[in-house]
Amino acid sequence: MPLCTQCILPADTAGITLDDTGVCSHCRAHQPIEYHGEEELQKLLDSVRDRGNKYDCMINISGGRDSSYTLLSLVKDYGMKALAVNYANPFTDPRAKQNIDNIVRLLDVDFVQFKLKRNLHEKILKNNILAWFKKPTPAMIPAICIGCKIIWPKMLRIARKNDIHCIVNGGNPYEYTSFKKELLGISQDTSLTSTYLGNIRGLAREAVRNIRYLKPKFIPATLKGYLFGNPYAVGSRLVGGKIAYLDFFHYIPWDEEKVIGRIQAELDWDYPHELNSTWRFDCQIAHLKDFMYVKTLGVIVRSLI
Ligand SMILES: [Zn+2]
Repeated sequence: MPLCTQCILPADTAGITLDDTGVCSHCRAHQPIEYHGEEELQKLLDSVRDRGNKYDCMINISGGRDSSYTLLSLVKDYGMKALAVNYANPFTDPRAKQNIDNIVRLLDVDFVQFKLKRNLHEKILKNNILAWFKKPTPAMIPAICIGCKIIWPKMLRIARKNDIHCIVNGGNPYEYTSFKKELLGISQDTSLTSTYLGNIRGLAREAVRNIRYLKPKFIPATLKGYLFGNPYAVGSRLVGGKIAYLDFFHYIPWDEEKVIGRIQAELDWDYPHELNSTWRFDCQIAHLKDFMYVKTLGVIVRSLI
């Protein structure tokens, strides 16, 4: 089986093609990350710092490496008064919970934690997993777990209640998963708006093929997930008003050695060593998704750029 000469994905991986030189379509579509730079970051942080409010910014922490480092850097390197927020995801790894406790204590930051009501996260996940296993398709793997996608209205309420005008995101640019839209039939170079509509069309197409996903009692939450799936989604932008979003690692490079080294030394941070990786252990559903990708695509694809 030929492999991509750059990323070693096998040629029969769903949705990829190899060109004459043996380079796959993901590698051809890859755009190098361009950072805005630390000077720009400083400027933005200066613009929200010390407005006389109790907090300069808010950050959602999961206990994983990236949000932990981002909060550490905001507080220690940039002197930001940050409110740490956590969605108590019922599938959080115990070590991630311990990390959150340590971070809040060692950085001495205020902390707000919230849950979804009536075990909604667990119920939707159960329905969608059972639906998926009846008819496994890779395109629906990201949609099986909607809980973390419906937290943004609550996040925005917390920000408004505390008069916070800036929400910082610690997402790692190396973990962006543009391949997911290809699985829904949207090409890499599609514009943002068309991608959004294409996503909805693609998901509707998948759901019609497997109506088990369409339990009436879960439809409102599922729609909410697509309106508020992230801070840039239509619903979040409408409700968020003037709140600014800052993607920390769009300004400074993500350096694994530095990130892990500092959070271990300064925040008593750790990971489950039996996984042999610090990557994405904070939610235990990630392991299930790995299995689902291996089952349908033959590879684990969570971290493709
Ligand atoms: Zn490749």
